[in-house]
Amino acid sequence: MNVVIVGAQWGDEGKGKVVDLYSSRAEVIVRYQGGNNAGHTLVVNGKKTVLHLIPSGILHPDKLCLISNGVVFDPENFFTEIESLVASGGLHGKPSDRVKVSDRAHVILPYHRALDRMREDRAGAGKLGTTVRGIGPAYEDKVSRRGIRVGDLLRPESLKTKLERAIEEKNVLFERHSPENRVSLDEVYAFCLKIGEKLAPYVTDVHSNLYEAVDQKRPILFEGAQGTLLDVDHGTYPFVTSSSTIMGGALTGTGLGATGFGETIGIMKAYTTRVGSGPFPSEIEDTDPALAEKIRTIGKEFGATTGRKRRIGWLDLVAMRYAAEVNGFSGLALMKVDVLNGFDELQVVTAYEVDGKTTTRFSADAETLARVKPVLKTVAGWPDYDASKVRSVLDLPRSLQDYIRLIEDGVGAPVVLLSTGPGREETLVIRDPFGG
Ligand code: GDP
Repeated sequence: MNVVIVGAQWGDEGKGKVVDLYSSRAEVIVRYQGGNNAGHTLVVNGKKTVLHLIPSGILHPDKLCLISNGVVFDPENFFTEIESLVASGGLHGKPSDRVKVSDRAHVILPYHRALDRMREDRAGAGKLGTTVRGIGPAYEDKVSRRGIRVGDLLRPESLKTKLERAIEEKNVLFERHSPENRVSLDEVYAFCLKIGEKLAPYVTDVHSNLYEAVDQKRPILFEGAQGTLLDVDHGTYPFVTSSSTIMGGALTGTGLGATGFGETIGIMKAYTTRVGSGPFPSEIEDTDPALAEKIRTIGKEFGATTGRKRRIGWLDLVAMRYAAEVNGFSGLALMKVDVLNGFDELQVVTAYEVDGKTTTRFSADAETLARVKPVLKTVAGWPDYDASKVRSVLDLPRSLQDYIRLIEDGVGAPVVLLSTGPGREETLVIRDPFGG
């Protein structure tokens, strides 16, 4: 069985832990969208390694990790991660046998990062809050047919002409707004040749690798980044990321047809968070800032790279139902349940009031969503309990069982995994999507 992991909310749901758990069940692990704007913190031999691009399955000695065409690929970040994994002893075998990159993945070059930074600096209050890693500008180049693909780095004869085309308009912009970032064709060409040479042993046709794996019935894990509500088409545009974060992104992002996929597991927290700007109907910051602060502190809801406070909200079943519709979830992983332990009562958003009407439909239109007032249902919280003694859902406190049922009924998918702490052992596996 092949399994796709998708963030069901606005990202930061705890996908890293699920990817780590499920990686042990898969033989091939694929990143299919986004770039090094994702982030998983892993501890190997007591040394902290942060992976932004390479699938965390790399830590399992016998797994093949693939970076597919849907990803925008920053080669400098890639080699930093490889070197750090080799240094920590976390990467077994020859690196180029363990990680492969699609010849069709688009390359993030230094001018993409410069453009990203220049735009964010100039945006003032309209800042999108990007990671300034050049992800958006690289996707723009892909769509405008000015992108440089990994395969291009291996073809010096045609690369220079492609680069010339790629940087022409950028230099007009740089000239006007940040002349220090003007790109020199010769410099960027030399940089690309150097990178191409180093990257050559890693380059492959991921599409073929995946078909082979399907043929040989080797289980595949598709590792999504960010979250459904940040999807460029189906999220709360323009406060979104620049890729297809939903399950559909795994199809276009790999070139594997629908029959190659099995389960789609939505990763969700027992509450909701959102980073940066944009509408957030279940937010509790305005109504109860002390409570928001409490959940933020217990849940350590601060950006991993920026330290930025994440905004906190109640579980939103309207948004979750929408996420289930656009992804087709066959199961849900319910994370960070422990963060809500010991609350007397909790609120859950069951409907929206918008322009005087009550609805259970989620509008991804940011302006409509900003006018939404949440309809809240009060439910009983659950007491602190000893999660290490829990073997099945029936061992959970009654009110937590009710909370799970409310989610399953509201979202229309079963909870297959319950997470009660960051550790591997702090997990209740209700059903293993890989089977067995
Ligand atoms: P991602 O952006 O979805 O990949 O989220 P991360 O993997 O960065 O997870 C966010 C943080 O939550 C990490 O520090 C995890 O260790 C932590 N985490 C994951 N699951 C749980 C859980 O069930 N309880 C608690 N308290 N922390 C968790």
